[in-house]
Amino acid sequence: MLTGRMMDEPLLLTHFLERARTFFPRSEVVDRAPDGSLHRYTYADFHRRVCQLAHALGRLGVAPGDRVATLAWNHHRHLEAYFAVPAIGAVLHTLNLRLHPDELAYIVSDAEDVVLLIDRSLLPLWRQFAARAPSVRHVVVLPDDGPAPEGTLDYEGLLDAEPGHYDFPRLEERTAAALCYTSGTTGRPKGVLYTHRSTVLHTLVSCMADVLAISGQEVLLPAVPMFHANAWGLPYAAVALGTKLVLPGPRLDAVSLCDLIARERVSFAAGVPTIWMGLLAELDAHPDHHDLSSLRRMVVGGAALTPALLEGFSRRGIEMIHAWGMTELNPLGSVARIKPRLGEAGADPDKIRTLRLSQGYAAPFVEQRHVGAAGEVLPWDGTSMGELEVRGPWVAASYFGDAGRDRFTADGWFKTGDVVTIDAEGYLHITDRSKDVIKSGGEWISSVAIENALMSHPAVLEAAVFAGRHPHWDERPLAAVVFKPGKEASKEELTAFLAPRFAKFWLPDDYVVLSQIPRTSTGKFLKTRLREEYGDWLLQGNQPSNAE
Ligand code: AMP
Repeated sequence: MLTGRMMDEPLLLTHFLERARTFFPRSEVVDRAPDGSLHRYTYADFHRRVCQLAHALGRLGVAPGDRVATLAWNHHRHLEAYFAVPAIGAVLHTLNLRLHPDELAYIVSDAEDVVLLIDRSLLPLWRQFAARAPSVRHVVVLPDDGPAPEGTLDYEGLLDAEPGHYDFPRLEERTAAALCYTSGTTGRPKGVLYTHRSTVLHTLVSCMADVLAISGQEVLLPAVPMFHANAWGLPYAAVALGTKLVLPGPRLDAVSLCDLIARERVSFAAGVPTIWMGLLAELDAHPDHHDLSSLRRMVVGGAALTPALLEGFSRRGIEMIHAWGMTELNPLGSVARIKPRLGEAGADPDKIRTLRLSQGYAAPFVEQRHVGAAGEVLPWDGTSMGELEVRGPWVAASYFGDAGRDRFTADGWFKTGDVVTIDAEGYLHITDRSKDVIKSGGEWISSVAIENALMSHPAVLEAAVFAGRHPHWDERPLAAVVFKPGKEASKEELTAFLAPRFAKFWLPDDYVVLSQIPRTSTGKFLKTRLREEYGDWLLQGNQPSNAE
């Protein structure tokens, strides 16, 4: 081998930090406190405070490799931790504040966090599991809704005592930078340990025009929490490019988001579908109340983009970018971009729409394949259904600790647990999460396709289709539906609406009307809960089945 002659500079997050100070000192970070007031500062201020935090953490005894946990909403102090912790070689561990205290106790113990940075507004949550988190030596209070209580370590007080410069170490690029736990809807949550290198590569690719197309010209609002897979890496991208960041704090309801978008002229927003469903309902209900004229792009991920969302926002001139990802992937895996040849003038609009609603094809550096029940690699024919597997430089090679070894294949791929078809162009179509698959009389039914269709019914706000146990067919689809305010539809109307689009045996045997679909801690529909609560629904009555 002839070795090349290029510099072996490590790929470090510290580079983005220094770049922000050097080239974008006047770019802004705006965030909203729980009381609704806005806080605003520049990347120069941000950089100074990151240096102060790095010193303060050192003074608290944080050493390279130590885990520093955060329990915080999206705001500037959390952003400071995103950079200060990895820059000194420690590991930022973002805790999901929507989890149960028992689960948080487990995760903090598993990660052996030594310091916790916590919003003052979340202290009551911490008190519920503090006694079960003996590894935590220091609790530092981020004063989001008032001054830190007496006797606690005050974040601002710690920073004030420190200098605004730091000579950051030149780390090895495989140094761990951040730790996120999977949402663990089945089994215990598992830690995913990202490296500087994986995060830098992920950031560069995310910004590409044919991926998420983030640029310094945007005003970026991550409505995805900073405890959900690093807010999809968006804070790193913003700091790398000098993009104005707008961080929403705890208020993620539709009216508050509309207000923030209008006030700060947000051009690019990102979040899970449930957030955007709420926003769309608000825009439909009060079309003249909100000025969203600045908003041009929206990334939807974490769960499937629905036709109703695609149409509702496209109609308002907002480009919808549908992305698929997982905590195990840093998190971006694929994006539904229309390839140049497929989008040519004269292309069939229905086909384009199907591709936009698909999970797209793998981003650069990510490889995709799907395998059948016997482990055979399946053809990209648009119909063979199998489990999606991926590999690449920002895909987990193993979990933190010893958990989940069965998720990695002997030949170096990660098993995603998503059931997909792949078409001849390489577009992925997720039909289900493997644990959500509905098997009726031995045949698979795609819950995603049916719920998408239901959510395009004019009376339906949200729908989730899940398996109900059935005495004859094993499982039959059941639909949980939430109607829009003031609207409803009968079972017969919903069935008639679906009937032209699906084989009869795919049609739900019954509908459960709810006021909200239960959600996971990251805002996705929690179908396991529906299964637990309504799984026996069809065993109770004697109604005919659509499978007959
Ligand atoms: P998490 O690690 O909590 O973000 O969950 C990852 C899982 O969310 C994936 O394995 C998928 O089941 C689901 N998911 C993420 N993005 C999408 C998407 N665009 N469409 C459908 N499901 C998605």
